[in-house]
Amino acid sequence: MSQNARDEPNSPESLVVKGVSHSFDSNPVLKDVSLTVAAGEIVCLLGASGSGKSTLLRVIAGLVPLQAGSIGIPGLPLAIPGDEPPAEARHCGFVFQDHALFPHLNVARNVAFGLHALDAKSRLDQVAIELEKVGLADRATSYPHTLSGGEQQRVALARALAPQPAVMLLDEPFANVDANLRRRLREDTRIVLRDSGAPSVLVTHSATEAMSVADRIAVIDDGHIVQVATPQDMWQNPSTPFVAELLFATDAILANCNTEGLHTAFGDLPMAPGESMDEQYAVVIRPEAIELTRSRSGGSRVTDVRALGDRFSVTVTAQGERLRALLANAPDFSIGASVEVRFDAAGVYVFSQYENESH
Ligand code: ADP
Ligand code: MG
Repeated sequence: MSQNARDEPNSPESLVVKGVSHSFDSNPVLKDVSLTVAAGEIVCLLGASGSGKSTLLRVIAGLVPLQAGSIGIPGLPLAIPGDEPPAEARHCGFVFQDHALFPHLNVARNVAFGLHALDAKSRLDQVAIELEKVGLADRATSYPHTLSGGEQQRVALARALAPQPAVMLLDEPFANVDANLRRRLREDTRIVLRDSGAPSVLVTHSATEAMSVADRIAVIDDGHIVQVATPQDMWQNPSTPFVAELLFATDAILANCNTEGLHTAFGDLPMAPGESMDEQYAVVIRPEAIELTRSRSGGSRVTDVRALGDRFSVTVTAQGERLRALLANAPDFSIGASVEVRFDAAGVYVFSQYENESH
């Protein structure tokens, strides 16, 4: 397993999750999860619904008791099962998917909510600073219902950051924000989180979102962290077919191997077989790395064509397997056409079947 669990002692600046497992009743939901997040670093926890993402945030925040492993929060003694700092001592700033603002309090009062330790003047100053950071200085007296979804999330972010949390935890914070506001909100959130200096864990099920926000991405599959890497490293070298499928939004296909090369239902792959010479490999092909040409003799059939504005998404089927191609130009074929498939080697990721069965 290519988990970047580090063995150095708990840094007072970092969030350090080590060997955390968690079960609900007897159902295991987190399985030996380790993750280190440095000060000012944003790690995106990327995984499908039900993979354990929210549970991990709750364990970090101390909202559910720690069952196995340890959690190091900056400035606190290490949390171990049966001996944990309480949730309120952990100073975790939380941002949820539904803005969870107090509807009867205006923006400034929402942000001031966590600042009871300060006197009135310092509170006002701090609120002004936080609202400025998220671009809402002029909305201090507005009520939440008068704000857009994106603005409400900015208030939620300001509220979580105002008490200068030790750790920031964001659970699908952009999921309910209109697509057109999401890009700006992501960019601004990234800057504000980085400047806060807190280690941040941002949960998402969108690979695109993880790619655009994360310093590093941690992919979680059924309670296991399967890869932790920078977006660039993960893109170039996804460690499992699952990671590649998630990143490239496509399905793995099978390749059979013999001395001549690697053969798929869609044709031969433009590469030599690896040294291990397995009989079968799982292969994930980046949709941009597929070329389709009309061919009467081609054994692959077009089963769907979608115009996506600047691109065309074409689904091709052969021998019960499916490929998704992204074409720059309008294809000169329609559903039912037979096509020949060609692959650009740079976008073909080949995985040994033995490595896949890591869990
Ligand atoms: P994600 O956030 O990745 O969608 P969750 O961490 O919410 O996943 O849930 C992981 C699994 O744990 C799911 O199968 C969910 O049904 C289960 N689960 C979550 N919370 C509870 C709970 N309080 N009691 C029992 N099962 C739970
Ligand atoms: Mg969740």
